[in-house]
Amino acid sequence: MTPSTPTTNPATNPTTNPTTNPATNLATNPVTNTSTPAAVPFRRRPFVGGNWKMNLLAAEVVALAESIAAPSGGDGGAGGVDVVVFPPFPYLATVRPVLKPGVQLGGQDCSAEKQGAFTGQVGAAMLRDVGCASVLIGHSERRHGLGETDALLSRKIGQALDAGLVPVLCVGETLAERESGRAHGVIDAQLRGSLAGHAESALATLVVAYEPVWAIGTGRTATPDDAAEAHRTVRRTLKELYSARFSEQVRVIYGGSVNARNAAELLAREEIDGGLVGGASLVASDFAAIIAAASRRS
Ligand code: PEP
Repeated sequence: MTPSTPTTNPATNPTTNPTTNPATNLATNPVTNTSTPAAVPFRRRPFVGGNWKMNLLAAEVVALAESIAAPSGGDGGAGGVDVVVFPPFPYLATVRPVLKPGVQLGGQDCSAEKQGAFTGQVGAAMLRDVGCASVLIGHSERRHGLGETDALLSRKIGQALDAGLVPVLCVGETLAERESGRAHGVIDAQLRGSLAGHAESALATLVVAYEPVWAIGTGRTATPDDAAEAHRTVRRTLKELYSARFSEQVRVIYGGSVNARNAAELLAREEIDGGLVGGASLVASDFAAIIAAASRRS
């Protein structure tokens, strides 16, 4: 559902999202939501994000936004997928009124500060005010391109949560880190650093995006096995930091050259709850194919 006002966040407001428990991200289907989470695959609601990065001008943004549809159930109904587009900041207000029902709006980043003399930054409350339901935190193009640290990202997560936004925390190793056998240690450390100071109870809506840096925008995709293994690392760390229950309810999505051809194989894995998509999200038919692959999980 497209947020209609700042106080009705579909991802967090139980009254607007009737079939997903916002405290757990789990479908409320009594058959699938059992007390033994690990035994029931695909019970987390799929999440597909389109990260438009610094691409497109107004007319193209509108045309692309108008072309995106969420599967039936996208308004929170059974069988739905959380479909979120992350346009450049100047076009958030342009995109919002043309989104189809069930397609949500997200910000590509937010400030670690609440408000004030921070020229060029965008506050989480502003994103919420303009209709965003979620925000990307720690995308690799900010971690590595702009030197954002885990400590900074932890503060950004705090701002996102205070504003009622779903934080989509991005983690992932570089090629050198993978080739030297440090991938899982890096993922673990990024999670611990970025989530430092945040209690399990505050993080009910958290989404983690595993995005190996070497796969972003390169056409090189992690194999489903490698991605699934990394997602298990994410859950292991979340379990150690918080609880088994929490680690099983958080959605962990994959990003890194997901496209219309490889999405089905990736999203067929139990561990992969959806995708964060860059390049392919700029092509309406490709993004639609990825959403369709995600909807087959639900
Ligand atoms: C991204 O922007 O998060 C991303 C994964 O980009 P791409 O799909 O182009 O690799």
